[in-house]
Amino acid sequence: MTVDMDDRGLIVSCPSCGQKNRLAYERLGDEVRCGKCKQTLQSPAEPIELHSTADFDRLVARSSLPVVVDYWAPWCGPCRMVAPELKKVAARQPGKMIVVKVNTDELSDLGQRHNIRSIPTLAVFAGGKEVARTAGARPADQIEAFVAQASLVQQQR
Ligand SMILES: [Zn+2]
Repeated sequence: MTVDMDDRGLIVSCPSCGQKNRLAYERLGDEVRCGKCKQTLQSPAEPIELHSTADFDRLVARSSLPVVVDYWAPWCGPCRMVAPELKKVAARQPGKMIVVKVNTDELSDLGQRHNIRSIPTLAVFAGGKEVARTAGARPADQIEAFVAQASLVQQQR
């Protein structure tokens, strides 16, 4: 899914009228209505492919929802197994988490900065910080459990 991003939020198209609406990073979990037709808009129900480090930094620093990051690369077999599982997670949990994909070949500076040694690696960011990380492919149910656990740990701090 291609979701446009700017310095203030995610730009999504209204499913009802097609109007583009901005979902501010700080209010991603809130109910937002289309500015034109008042249809309720959800945060994206599909993984968002990131194409710039600036987008990553803004999203992670300001998102009001946990951000689940999939570090992957096109040549990585297990990454291809994770992709449909992540889609399931994102589809089941709109408004609960933001799922993003970071191609470590394309955004190698992010992989280096976060010391990603193997892919696929899944990380959860909350409140601007990485709160959990796990390496290796796993099915959707286990990804959801991992994110739930990470969010719980974050709340207890
Ligand atoms: Zn609309």
